[in-house]
This record gives sequence, C-alpha cells and structure tokens, in this order.
Amino acid sequence: MKRFDAIILGAGQAGPPLANRLTGAGMTVALIERHLFGGTCVNTGCTPTKTLVASAYAAHLARRAAEYGVTLSGGVTVDMARVKARADAITSKSRSNIEAWLRGMPGCAVIRGHARFDGANTVRVGDEQLIAPRIFINVGGRASVPDWPGIVEIPFLTNTSILALDRLPEHLVVVGGSYVGLEFAQAYRRFGAQVTVIEKGPRLIGREDEDVSEAIRDILAREGITIRTGAECIRIALQPKGIMASLDCVEGPREVLASHVLLAVGRRPNTDDLDLERAGVTVDQRGYVVVDDHLATNVPGIWALGDCNGRGAFTHTAYNDYEIVAANLLDGERRKVSDRVPGYALYIDPPLGRAGMTETQARQSGQPVLVGSRPMTRVSRALEKNETLGFMKIIVNPDSLQILGASILGTGGDEAIHGVLDMMTARTPYPVFKWAVPIHPTVSELIPTLLGELRRRE
Ligand SMILES: Cc1cc2nc3c(=O)[nH]c(=O)nc-3n(C[C@H](O)[C@H](O)[C@H](O)COP(=O)(O)OP(=O)(O)OC[C@H]3O[C@@H](n4cnc5c(N)ncnc54)[C@H](O)[C@@H]3O)c2cc1C
Repeated sequence: MKRFDAIILGAGQAGPPLANRLTGAGMTVALIERHLFGGTCVNTGCTPTKTLVASAYAAHLARRAAEYGVTLSGGVTVDMARVKARADAITSKSRSNIEAWLRGMPGCAVIRGHARFDGANTVRVGDEQLIAPRIFINVGGRASVPDWPGIVEIPFLTNTSILALDRLPEHLVVVGGSYVGLEFAQAYRRFGAQVTVIEKGPRLIGREDEDVSEAIRDILAREGITIRTGAECIRIALQPKGIMASLDCVEGPREVLASHVLLAVGRRPNTDDLDLERAGVTVDQRGYVVVDDHLATNVPGIWALGDCNGRGAFTHTAYNDYEIVAANLLDGERRKVSDRVPGYALYIDPPLGRAGMTETQARQSGQPVLVGSRPMTRVSRALEKNETLGFMKIIVNPDSLQILGASILGTGGDEAIHGVLDMMTARTPYPVFKWAVPIHPTVSELIPTLLGELRRRE
C-alpha cells in the first residue's frame, strides 16, 4: 500500500491546479487519471467546440463578405478534415501541456488507471492500493443517453464521438435544444449540413427567460436550422436510408430522416463506477456527490469538486471549486460556494453572456424588480460590425440597489457580461455604474445606459 498526503481522482479542471497547490505546500500527492488529461473541457467540451465555432464563424462571415464590400472570387467551401485537424491540434497541445505539467510537478505521482474507493481513506487502481488522509474527487461527467427502446442498436453521436467526424453529415438531427446541442447545431449548419433541432420542452434553452429563448430561436431559424419544440415523445430507429427520428410535436411532420443523430439531452456524473459506498460517501438521486458549502462530503477527509458535485457545470465553476478548497485548507480562509455569482455563456453566434438570476428567477424570488433592455440594433458597435441580432437586459432591485442579473445576447456578449459579473461580485450598488466612462464603441458602453433606463415591466 502506497501512502500519500492526498489523493486526487481525475485530471479535469480542478485536480491539476489543486495538485500544484498541495505539492507546493509540501504534501505528497497521487493524481489518478483514467483517460485524457484535461478532462471534458480540454478534450470533448470547451476547447474543441469553441474551435469548431470559430471555424463555423469564419465560414459564415465569408458567405456574408459582400455585405462588407469584400468580394470573394469563388464560392465558400468548408474542408471538414482541416476543420477537425485544427480542433485536434489545439486540443492535443493543451492536453499534453497539462500532462507534462503534472509529470514534472515535484511531489506529484501521476497514476494512469481507473480509481475506485476501497474505504474512507483508501483507493484502488488496478492492483495498486493507495492511502491518504485527504481524498479529492474530481471525476466530472459524461453525456446522458436516454433509455429509449432499441437505442443501443443506433449509431448515435454524443459530444465526444461527433468530434471524430471529418466529413460533413448530410442531415444532422440534434436531439436536445439546450447549451451543448445548440452550439453544435449552428456550427454544423454553417459548415453546410442540413440541421434539425428537436427539443422536448415547449421552447429552446428552457432555463433562460422566454424572450431570450425566442431571440435564440429566431437567430438559428434565420440560418435555416429547422427547430421542432414540444417533441414530447422522441424515438429513433435505424432504417436503410438513415436514422428515423419519430416525434410527437404540436406542428410539423412526425418523422425526420437523419444521416446523423447527436444526442445532447444532458449530462450525468461519473460516480457510478467509483465504489463510493465503500467509503460511505453520499450521492443524491441523480448520482451527484452531496457536498456542503465548502465542498466537503459527508465523510471527513473527502471532498468533491467540479461537475461531479452538481454545484456547477462549467470549467470556471470547477476551477473555482479548487480555489475554494485550496484557500480553506491551505490559507485558513472560509470561502463558500454560495458566495459565487453564477455566470456562463452560450457560444452560438452571436453569443449569450449570462450573469446572476434570469428575470423570471428574480420575479419568483419576490423582490421588487426593474429591468433595462435594449436591442442590439441600438448598439453602435453592433451596427458597425453588421451584427445586430439579439438584445441585452439587466435586472436590478431598486430597494437594495443590487444588480440581480443580466443577459447579453449579441455580438461580444460573452465578454461584455463580465462588467456586470464583476459589479455583482463586488456587490457594488448599481448607481455607481453610471459614473463609469466606458470605451466607445463597445457593447459594454451600453450597460450604464441600460441602468439609466430602468423600468418596471409586467
Ligand atoms: C460539448 C461541451 C461544451 C462545453 N463548453 C464549455 C464552455 O465553453 N465553457 C465552460 O465553462 N464549460 C463548458 N463545458 C463544461 C466543462 O467541460 C465542464 O464543466 C468541465 O470540464 C468540468 O470539469 P471537471 O474537472 O469537473 O471534470 P472533467 O473535465 O470531466 O474531468 C474529469 C476527469 O476525471 C477522469 N475520471 C473520471 N472517472 C475517473 C476514475 N474513476 N478514475 C480516474 N479518473 C477518472 C476523467 O477521465 C476526466 O479526465 C462544456 C461541456 C461540453 C460537454
């Protein structure tokens, strides 16, 4: 049995920086990774998808070149093998940098293999047993696959397997109209595929406000993506000509014939094959490790970080989990998950940047709510770039003077939202924002203007 001061399960977004901090504090650390260094974000999530989104944007802009007075001599064609090679190159560099960093880290033993618990302070990897007083679970998640009859016989794609495509699908059907599905849907449409999005709920991206969902639907429909919402009963079956998706929608045909089907119907944590019960660690009904506000599990000496604890589903929340745990363990702080302001982006084009509560959530919380809103057609920078789809809105509480949330769906929205996120993190009263002298022309310059145009709306 090998002894360490700490064991980390998974080299995703929290594990490697935590190993760095712990070893820097003089501890010996075993970091166990069963597959690819960098986890989902680097290999099958953020990095490859945003690389594809960038290629898709280039194709889209090239097709629109004439609108800017630029003439292309031939038509626009997309070389999918080169698109894939570009994504692979960026991903693989990032992956090998992380591996090299960990392998060169003094005090860190990198172990390849699948980790399982043997007890509250012991972990097994193959025949090897490791023991440590501190164990950190950072095992992430994977795509959920619905238990539809016959699904195992269908060659469906997930966010992982779609990245292996180096040819354009003729007709890509994306099942799931939320964050993961919509990014792939728009990118593949821009590469030239016919694309249909099938969503079970009554609207796309149902966690966002209705006006945001509607605007996103409009953006995607304008590019020729077929959107079928309210598809309560979805079934897929293999046919000689492709994969037939049968759906029960309020309107439109009941069947769609696809050459490829991407399942993007949610994620599940990688906790079902960890033997957590041997350590006595509690998981919830969906398999997420139950943690307190400091990310400790019910078993003293075991923490869970990143997607597997269900407290965030992003790289920045996984990384923030590492910061919280490291600050509390090593710096004598008492940082909490509940202190963080939720923020994220949806990387369709134009992107959606989000901070804090949606308008719906703010209203449901029972607080007084004022809203400032403006279409991107009234934002100079958007007009100059000829990218005027979308809108921005900000929600405040007029009594507490706090910003409650914001949505910026528009060009540069993923960057501009940070002004709001920072204000919310600093808990600065919103009227202070009006004193800012923002740079012209930017999308961010309209945020103080929005705060000067607040109104009550039902
Ligand atoms: C298509 C897609 C696009 C995304 N885009 C974004 C984005 O733009 N921005 C963003 O913030 N987030 C994005 N995300 C989410 C982001 O990828 C995750 O939130 C993030 O990777 C979570 O990090 P993590 O450290 O919790 O887990 P992971 O990154 O999943 O890492 C977990 C690691 O643990 C390893 N592991 C699992 N079980 C074991 C075991 N038993 N033994 C040993 N090792 C094990 C895995 O192999 C993996 O390497 C995206 C996700 C997807 C699917």
